[in-house]
Amino acid sequence: MKKVAFYTLGCKLNYSETSTISRMFENKGYQKVEFDETPDIFIINTCSVTENADKKCKKIVKEAKKISPNSYVTIIGCYAQLKPQEISEIKGVDAVLGAAEKFRLIELLDGFAKEQETKVLASEIQDAIVFNNAFSMHDRTRTFLKVQDGCNYGCAFCTIPLARGKSRSDSTENILKSVREIAQTDVKEVVLTGVNIGDFGIQEGKREERFIDLIRAIDEVEGIDRYRISSIEPNLLTNEAIEFVSTSKRFVPHFHVPLQSGSNEILRKMGRRYLRELYEDRVSKIKTLMPHCCIGVDVIVGFPGETDELFLETYNFLNELDISYLHVFTYSERANTRAVEMNGVVPMKIRNERSKMLRILSEKKRRKFYEENLGKTFTVLFEEDIEDGKMHGFTENYIRVAAKYDPILINELKTVTLNEINERGTVEVLEPEQTYESH
Ligand code: SF4
Repeated sequence: MKKVAFYTLGCKLNYSETSTISRMFENKGYQKVEFDETPDIFIINTCSVTENADKKCKKIVKEAKKISPNSYVTIIGCYAQLKPQEISEIKGVDAVLGAAEKFRLIELLDGFAKEQETKVLASEIQDAIVFNNAFSMHDRTRTFLKVQDGCNYGCAFCTIPLARGKSRSDSTENILKSVREIAQTDVKEVVLTGVNIGDFGIQEGKREERFIDLIRAIDEVEGIDRYRISSIEPNLLTNEAIEFVSTSKRFVPHFHVPLQSGSNEILRKMGRRYLRELYEDRVSKIKTLMPHCCIGVDVIVGFPGETDELFLETYNFLNELDISYLHVFTYSERANTRAVEMNGVVPMKIRNERSKMLRILSEKKRRKFYEENLGKTFTVLFEEDIEDGKMHGFTENYIRVAAKYDPILINELKTVTLNEINERGTVEVLEPEQTYESH
């Protein structure tokens, strides 16, 4: 029985795909092992957004060869689609597969017999038109379920459409099948994942379904306690979807909505499909219906043309907005994007300073959001995340909670009252025995 090990870089989508590919191997009789358990085959799933993707990839290949010098090393993922030739020159790599090939790798690399030359099987990205469904099964608590892939938008800074192709989705019928399968396991929370999830519903180039109908349909499946929407573009987050989440049995009050800039001038340069007024309106709609809802925001600092004044517009906009935390990205140049050709390059030192300012603002926002919720009662899903004798979990509205360790509570949903914020910035709950109710 051949042993296979996996290494994943990047986003939730990559994790869900690695997980599905690993199950394909197991179904074919391969034994899945840890990276350091002398595998015969290594599958490295790469990311193009990660800083120094090339260096990271080289390092992992080197490590793999140290562990099993005669192993077969295969590289897949976004970086493999973008730079297949470059990767094929890394010493120790046996095969590079692109986006259209990665789900067929077992049949394409028949037997994983080593050859003199590195095999490069990466079609043009236009050929990646098939949707391959995937969900992660690494942890008992939650799974990342891929419902959509690719993107038809062309934001000036982004290489994802080049690495993942056009927007395409699974059918609601198939997703229901996956959700029912997940409902048979111990998993309590399903995170809906995609590149541009609000654009859900395109099959073979045609719009066939709508995101709102998908969430309505899966909300009815018994056996899943929680659904979380990973991230959704503000212009695609409809009133209907917000209203539905506010009354849903299972969708949690948590939205992650990319803003990228609070300056309309920069938003236009980025090629984003909304202005700050629309964003403000989305936040206010959410908060009116769900005052306790958590709202996370992606923001990029240092995009070309972002003057001090325009950055301050973003800072002040976010400062005023009723949001809960930020994911701050420092703009970095990517080959083959429109942004690299733009004037007004912001020096790296300034980009880093702006990033620091927004990270501090994020902590302030998070603390304020936590404080607003102290004394209230929520449901926590406890995880196998233990630190200093405390266990951790998240409330439905994404507040990180710490409680006295009790192994029985792992992967359980419990009702707790939020007590105080500790020195690590996590919320302590009242002693479990005083507050927990059985689920
Ligand atoms: S919406 Fe824009 S940033 Fe998001 S994946 Fe598509 S092109 Fe990239």
